[in-house]
Amino acid sequence: MTTREWGAIYKEMGAKPVINATGSVTLLGGSTPVPEVKAAMDAADSAFIPLIELEQVAGDRIAEMLGVPAAYITSGAGSALTLATAAFMAGTDNAKIEQLPDTTGMPNEILIQKRQRYWYDRCLELAGAKLVEFGDENGTSEDDLRNAISDRTAAVHYVVYEQRPKDPNVLTLEQVIKITHDAGKPVSVDAAGQIYPLENFGKYVKMGADFQCIAAKYMGAPHSTGFALGTKEVIDAISRHSFVGYETHRIRGIGRPHKIDRQEIMGVVAAVRRWFSIDHEERLSIAEGQSQAILRPLKGIPGVRAELNTNIMGHQPYGVFIDLDPDVVGFTNADLVQKLRDGDPSIWTRVPDGASRLELHVFGLGEGEAELVGNAIVAAVKG
Ligand SMILES: *Cc1c(COP(=O)(O)O)cnc(C)c1O
Repeated sequence: MTTREWGAIYKEMGAKPVINATGSVTLLGGSTPVPEVKAAMDAADSAFIPLIELEQVAGDRIAEMLGVPAAYITSGAGSALTLATAAFMAGTDNAKIEQLPDTTGMPNEILIQKRQRYWYDRCLELAGAKLVEFGDENGTSEDDLRNAISDRTAAVHYVVYEQRPKDPNVLTLEQVIKITHDAGKPVSVDAAGQIYPLENFGKYVKMGADFQCIAAKYMGAPHSTGFALGTKEVIDAISRHSFVGYETHRIRGIGRPHKIDRQEIMGVVAAVRRWFSIDHEERLSIAEGQSQAILRPLKGIPGVRAELNTNIMGHQPYGVFIDLDPDVVGFTNADLVQKLRDGDPSIWTRVPDGASRLELHVFGLGEGEAELVGNAIVAAVKG
């Protein structure tokens, strides 16, 4: 039993495991590969295989399942974003691939709506591209985009969070695709978490985007994996810029450190297969049940407003919002986050950037942990 005890492998080494009530966040380790994925990864150990061929075949299988032209497995959605910008700037020209991140003589601007600036947009600059904003904090017009596109434009980037309320002050993806393609430039989409409902999985490429990323951390694959979906042209270029292009074609591109192993590649394929075969109603009902288990002990506690998050779109359905009344409880929402973190076991939650209440997700909770989280919150509030 000892090594299977909760967190024992970390504790024995002197590191402190935590209960993850935040959700799929990279700072805590993102995801736990599901059994089907682990089995595929173990089976991959049995032989070596040229990775450029494995990437090709695995990408083909994922593309078929999704109904898009092509796919390429990367070391995370962030890596897919960086490789895609490299592809947009240098294409399949070997000399240019080797010249990056020096972009002299190439289109090197990635256009992004000011209101869509976000945490991961740094990944768009790592291959040498420059982010250029269009529109302003109040909104964007079609002319803002038309005027921003020039010979220097490598691509126009768009971010999709369908689980959030629509921002009426940004251009829609349809508008961006139309205007950008009319100007002869490609469209890049970050849809990392858009894997449910299933019709959203790969939808943006089907709508006409040249590239979109997916974070496989959200679907039971290793946390370190993701993939690019796109036109054959963009995906072929990504392959040449990637570590397999570096090693197989001897093209010294920026993708060499974005390495992924054969076990992870097979894990991602297994995760996508599983995603198309599991009972999503059951997946949602389990998440709702865990959320209700957090909520149950919080009912009727003075000063605690706790509410079910009913969102089921994207990668982490349901969850719980918690908002304390500091006048009643004696401390703030931020204090509660700290108290839970300081507890034993340490429970990690957060008030997301720009929000005021705690937003808990059950994505990272193991057996019995939802009840434990609810009870720990009651204990913290009652002091
Ligand atoms: C998680 C995420 C990323 C980065 O994905 P990694 O696989 O962690 O590199 C990019 N964009 C969005 C919207 C994400 O949620």
